[in-house]
Amino acid sequence: MKILIVGGGLGGLSAALCLQQAGHEVQVFEQSKVFAPVGAGIQSGANAVHVLRHLGLFDATAALAVQPERVEFRDCKTGSALATMPLGQGYQEKYGEPYWHLHRADMHTVFEQALRERAPDAIHLNAQFERYTEHGDSNDVEAGAGVVLRLTDGREFEGDLLIGADGIRSKVRQQLCGSNTPKFTGHVAWRVVVPTSHLPNDWMDKIVANYVGPNQHAVLYYLRNQQLANLVGVVESADQNKQWAGDSWVRNSPWAELKADFAGWHPTVQAIIDAAEKDQCYRWALYDHAPLKNWVSNRVALLGDAAHASLPFMASGAAMAVEDGRILDRAIEQEESLPDALRLYQNSRFERTSKVQRVSSKMGSLYHVKSTVLRNLAFRAFGTVAKANESFLPGYNANTVELK
Ligand SMILES: Cc1cc2nc3c(=O)[nH]c(=O)nc-3n(C[C@H](O)[C@H](O)[C@H](O)COP(=O)(O)OP(=O)(O)OC[C@H]3O[C@@H](n4cnc5c(N)ncnc54)[C@H](O)[C@@H]3O)c2cc1C
Repeated sequence: MKILIVGGGLGGLSAALCLQQAGHEVQVFEQSKVFAPVGAGIQSGANAVHVLRHLGLFDATAALAVQPERVEFRDCKTGSALATMPLGQGYQEKYGEPYWHLHRADMHTVFEQALRERAPDAIHLNAQFERYTEHGDSNDVEAGAGVVLRLTDGREFEGDLLIGADGIRSKVRQQLCGSNTPKFTGHVAWRVVVPTSHLPNDWMDKIVANYVGPNQHAVLYYLRNQQLANLVGVVESADQNKQWAGDSWVRNSPWAELKADFAGWHPTVQAIIDAAEKDQCYRWALYDHAPLKNWVSNRVALLGDAAHASLPFMASGAAMAVEDGRILDRAIEQEESLPDALRLYQNSRFERTSKVQRVSSKMGSLYHVKSTVLRNLAFRAFGTVAKANESFLPGYNANTVELK
């Protein structure tokens, strides 16, 4: 098939690679003029790594990754451990692939380079989607069935299938499903990346440390072979609602506000804030959507954040997007008709992705409990619940899971 993909983020590029590997002709339409090295840390469980392995990208990605030993939830002031889960060798043996930390830009570059090598003309930059027209519902392209993508500069492209991988503010979703206004959650995430050489030598073990406090939390981990360290600092407040109302999304923000937000927190958190380049602190407003029941038509399908954006509290949005592409590729392989394949793709993904959306929202409430005593108690109990459910994310293999 000829497959048109709107959006060249992690979801769009990984889907393009899966579908290209399965023998389809893919074209990716990305509105940006260049792929800038945007974003910060991405945690990537065994479930995402299974797909990278399928695409032959394991070694290229491993060279840029960090494999943490464990995740530790810690009291924001004392740093005492409230709950711990292993992510090192034992995790890898149990789930068949490692748990990785990656810079989004590194992961994106691996995808982009692979696609350019395998399908040199597949990527169209400066190509902003405007709308599509879907013709006919038969599977017979000769009979005039197909989909036409129109860009804002007037160019048109024809294909058999159009995939909307254009993120949380998806225009494809708007056309497919009607209204598409993501809801501002009142959470804002600081994202800061600093060279490890700017931190004290004994700054932190090779772990993910998640410091939890009233109305906010801070996640710290290493990236790029431990050359970089990453802070995600999520702050929730009623005032933010007013400040971020409107279309804002990512803002370069004053370092002094970051410092003030985490005043009094543990020295490990202070150290990375102090090492941050003062003009390189970014705040991301966190939006989400309620789970969407239908995200496909006969020739159009959504993928990644366009279909099921979630808060980052399970660190799984990109992993869900990467899984989507592989499942879509398998559903097309398995079904004779494209409309059946798209329904199989959606049905196979709905339960998992909507659970990630729901649980991610709930995790925010747990992280941010106001009372220290209650929060610490809740986290100790959470450790037990989390252990009982720990295989939910990494125990899924998109290469082999039954589609239904
Ligand atoms: C603070 C924070 C921390 C996170 N941490 C993690 C983590 O640890 N692990 C994890 O798995 N996920 C994490 N995520 C989530 C993850 O970043 C996203 O879920 C993932 O990047 C979504 O990928 P996507 O390709 O679906 O969408 P996007 O990355 O949004 O890509 C969409 C692309 O479409 C393009 N586009 C948009 N509109 C148009 C148009 N009209 N025409 C053409 N192109 C268009 C955009 O320019 C963009 O390139 C985090 C997110 C945040 C905010």
